[in-house]
Amino acid sequence: MRNKLESTKFGKYGGQFVPEVLMPALEELTEYYEKFKDDVVFNEELDYYLRDFAGRPSPLYFAQRLSREYGVKIYLKREDLVHGGAHKLNNTLGQGLLAKYMGKKRIIAETGAGQHGTACAMAGATFGINTEVYMGAKDTVRQRMNVYRMELMGTKVIPVKSGSQTLKDAINEAMRDWVANVETTHYMIGSVVGPHPFPTMVRDFQSVIGKEVRSQIMEKEGCFPDSIVACTGGGSNAMGIFYPFIEEDVDLFAVEAGGSGMKTTDKEALHSATLCTGEDGVLHGMRTKVLQNKDGQILESSSIAAGLDYAGVGPELAYLADIGRLKPCNSMDSEALLAFHDLCRLEGIIPALESSHAVAYVRKAAATGELGDIVVINISGRGDKDLETVMGMRK
Ligand SMILES: *Cc1c(COP(=O)(O)O)cnc(C)c1O
Repeated sequence: MRNKLESTKFGKYGGQFVPEVLMPALEELTEYYEKFKDDVVFNEELDYYLRDFAGRPSPLYFAQRLSREYGVKIYLKREDLVHGGAHKLNNTLGQGLLAKYMGKKRIIAETGAGQHGTACAMAGATFGINTEVYMGAKDTVRQRMNVYRMELMGTKVIPVKSGSQTLKDAINEAMRDWVANVETTHYMIGSVVGPHPFPTMVRDFQSVIGKEVRSQIMEKEGCFPDSIVACTGGGSNAMGIFYPFIEEDVDLFAVEAGGSGMKTTDKEALHSATLCTGEDGVLHGMRTKVLQNKDGQILESSSIAAGLDYAGVGPELAYLADIGRLKPCNSMDSEALLAFHDLCRLEGIIPALESSHAVAYVRKAAATGELGDIVVINISGRGDKDLETVMGMRK
């Protein structure tokens, strides 16, 4: 057991820091994932859903006017065009299909702003698996439309009234549910976080992004890009586009949310730049970098982009940052807003505020030369969900 656990870590990060009662569930999941990840029938079926249901491959689009404005050649990986409007469905289709192969009768998940919950609801409906999503009671009010979306697709949304009534309480409740119902239930984690095998499995399901970029950029440029830039909350769209380039001579930039620029307090980080400023700790079943105070208490993170608002980060990203294989960086709320407007005005594409953080980094770093000549930006999602936020920021 011990050896198995050790070998699943990314350097000192990763692992399985969970109550003993969950170990059999994690072992079962690991076993099935190992069994099916290279299985021809499983992959043919997954490819079918990715193509005909999700609309893959997503285009790699040469952003001509943005390139001229920023002074580097920019390609946009259009995950905003995937069904549901973000990359999240790549993962929920993968896990949903795996749950079906495992004979699970029920899927549970947690969601913050509702993006992952919505992607779970889509997968649950497609595969005909009973789906229940835990959501902080406060978030269910703030995100009424996403709650309604999930309900339309047959998912039961369970408001969590404990604690701060937000994402972290929803995670606790989902964990509790899984412990009680491991036999019948698959717990669908929404990013490259949590105990092994989730960080590895979610990365693999999201790697379809980077695999497509490899052949698309070869076709257009005859070479790989100099750099790839992706926003990073938990890190799944970043790992998904980075991973197939890990062995290549391509620079990888993980852009975190620098927040509002207000001063950090002892309770609140007022940003969510975990790779940039976090310290080693244990959160949600994994060892990783965590936003915490000097007593080890988890800080409240904060960002204009709900999807980046997380006090942890995937363990593999923490590892890759430590060994210097990726560069952690960040964009402030205000910078993301400027980039958001650039992409709308110059390209006719309304990006998610999360993705706007990646664009914002290119906006400020292009002139320094550190990105090279050809840059791929992962547009992880579309911005329709963010219009009210952006309208509210207008002077
Ligand atoms: C959820 C979300 C993210 C952040 O999640 P990662 O796991 O870091 O990719 C980024 N962009 C969009 C559009 C999202 O919905």
